[in-house]
Amino acid sequence: MVKSTRLRPCSRRDLCGDRVALIFQDALAALNPVYPIGWQIAEMFRIHGLQPDGGVDRAVIDLLTAVGIPDPARRAKQYPHEFSGGMRQRIMIAMAVALEPDVIIADEPTTALDVTIQAQIIDLLDRVRKRSDAGMIFITHDLGVVAELADRVGVMYAGRIVETANVFELFEDARHPYSVGLLASQPRMDSEDAELVAIAGSAPNPVALPSGCAFRTRCSRARELCAQIVPPLEIMGPGRQAACHFPVLPA
Ligand code: SF4
Repeated sequence: MVKSTRLRPCSRRDLCGDRVALIFQDALAALNPVYPIGWQIAEMFRIHGLQPDGGVDRAVIDLLTAVGIPDPARRAKQYPHEFSGGMRQRIMIAMAVALEPDVIIADEPTTALDVTIQAQIIDLLDRVRKRSDAGMIFITHDLGVVAELADRVGVMYAGRIVETANVFELFEDARHPYSVGLLASQPRMDSEDAELVAIAGSAPNPVALPSGCAFRTRCSRARELCAQIVPPLEIMGPGRQAACHFPVLPA
C-alpha cells in the first residue's frame, strides 16, 4: 500500500482521481463555491490530461445524468449553493467516479442528510460503485448502513482497528468487547422489549489515552494485563482478527 501522507503533492495528485477517490461528509465545504459544478467535474479530466470519448462536456453531462441530476446540461452551469444537500452529495459522487477509480473512500457521506435522502445516496453509491467495479471503504457510525453495504468490517476505537470480520460474523458473533457493546446499543426492529445497553463511560481524550488497551476504562472484562500491554490485532479464525487480551469467545 502506498503511504500517501509521504508523497509529494504532485505524486499524490497522480494517485487521486483514477486510483483513489474521496467523498467527504460535507459536500458544500468540499466543492469550490466560485466555480460551476460542471467546471469542477471537468477538472478531474483536465488535471489528468484525459480526453473522454465525446468530449469533456459530454462526459460531465453523462456523469450528472448517472447520479440522477435532472436537466444536467443546465445544472452543470450552476454553482454549489444552488443545489440541495442531497444534490451536492450526488455531485461529489459524480466527481468520485468520473475517472473510474480502483477504490472510493466515502467518509460519512450521508451524515449531513435527512433519512430519506440518506437512503437514496447509499443506494446510488452502491450502484455507481458496482458499475465502475470499484472497491469502497465506507466510514460510518451507522451500523444499519454497515449491515446493508459492507462485505468486510473494520471496527475502530480511539484511532485503531480493534476488530475485523466479515459483516455476518461481526453481527452474529463479535469478539472485541467494544464491538459487542456497539451492537448491544443498537435498537432492534425484531423485538419489542430488547433493552438498549449503553457502553459505560465516554470516549477517551485521543491525546491522553489510557495505558495499555484504550478501551479498558469502559470494559467490563478488563484485567491488570489490559493496563500494561496494548493488545495486538490477533487472528481469531479465518479472515477474523481482534485486538483484545480477553476476547468474547463463542459459547
Ligand atoms: S484488552 Fe482488556 S480492556 Fe481491552 S477490550 Fe480486551 S478485555 Fe477489554
